[in-house]
Amino acid sequence: GQCANVCPVDSITERYEYNYVKEAIKDPDKVVIVSTSPSVRAALGEEFGMPDGSFVQGKMVALLRKLGVNFVLDTNFAADLTIMEEASELIERVTKNTAPLPQFTSCCPAWIKYVETYYPEMIPNLSTAKSPIGMQGPTIKTFFAKKKGINPENIVNVALTPCTAKKFEIRRNEMNAAAKYLGIDDMRDMDYVITTRELAKWAKEENIDFASLLDSDYDDFMGEASGAAVIFGNTGGVMEAALRTAYEYITKEKSPEQLLNFTPVRGYDGVKEATVKIGELDVSIAVIYGTANAGKVIEEIKNGNKQYHFVEVMTCPGGCIGGGGQPKNVMKDKDEVRKARIQSLYTKDEAMIIRKSHENPDIKRVYEEFYGEPLSELAEKMLHTSYEDKSKILNRKGDKEMGKWVCSV
Ligand code: SF4
Repeated sequence: GQCANVCPVDSITERYEYNYVKEAIKDPDKVVIVSTSPSVRAALGEEFGMPDGSFVQGKMVALLRKLGVNFVLDTNFAADLTIMEEASELIERVTKNTAPLPQFTSCCPAWIKYVETYYPEMIPNLSTAKSPIGMQGPTIKTFFAKKKGINPENIVNVALTPCTAKKFEIRRNEMNAAAKYLGIDDMRDMDYVITTRELAKWAKEENIDFASLLDSDYDDFMGEASGAAVIFGNTGGVMEAALRTAYEYITKEKSPEQLLNFTPVRGYDGVKEATVKIGELDVSIAVIYGTANAGKVIEEIKNGNKQYHFVEVMTCPGGCIGGGGQPKNVMKDKDEVRKARIQSLYTKDEAMIIRKSHENPDIKRVYEEFYGEPLSELAEKMLHTSYEDKSKILNRKGDKEMGKWVCSV
């Protein structure tokens, strides 16, 4: 159509949204902020001939600075924020019966769309917590903008992700919480999504020698993350991260060593189950990837064969490390590549001092200075969302596009 050359949404089909980011960098009035998702740093190096799963966080940040972005922040910060909200919500459901169990994770937009389309009766089971990117966007345009004295309307918020479906998620109508909060008419929480492969393409076009870049660190206020956030990028990571925090909230005691290396939810199986003793409670959990697996488990839950408290679902094989925007190499064994990326994230988590979301100092500060506490009125407005029964308005074009976006690794 006529808007093919100007409309950013059309860039979804082209996939190359980074051209819009390049233009924003050239505009002196714009402040370009890139936030990096957990699994990009475990795969980007592969595009530049480094071994599979190389952990290249420092070089990735340096690359973004070299490309001219004004601030580099970490979506891992928002992964910790997601855990704070999602674990608190789980505790409310379990102790106060505020909503049905099991609680399903909500950070994967392709999974959300699947539930909205095929299992709308399970919508009340979806955590209302937005995804890390969904939380990062409005927090930047309010809290971070204020800290730095930047006019939020000048911010161009870019998410660097392994995920092509995130291009759809940031354009959901409701992803404009900062605009509502600030009384601005027309502003999105997150403006663009670029994938790992897009960033690599951009860097190659600029002739940047990635391997020779010196490590750089994130900017302050939203650049600090825990080991729990690091493992968000792989199957089972969200569950393990949530349990580390939920355990301490419920029992008021340090979570046991077992939860710092929670093997029942680790590994590459499509469905994993476990029971964890938290205080008096036996918490029953499942970790799933792939919507076919999820569909089977939902049927089991519906017919009463299975009962869980908390279920993590990711669409892509192995979780986001296997996302549709990650490097692809047809010559390699996909499963081995994915396993190398997963190992990379667990190794990083293990090497970190702060491994629980609620111990992240940047998280403590954002609650002290802005959100108050998890599930506060402001947190509910900015960090939580609602879902829509889409079973009757089957958007066939949208479904086809979604299918094309995800899981192409
Ligand atoms: Fe995106 Fe795949 Fe991760 Fe879902 S599992 S958020 S589709 S990369």
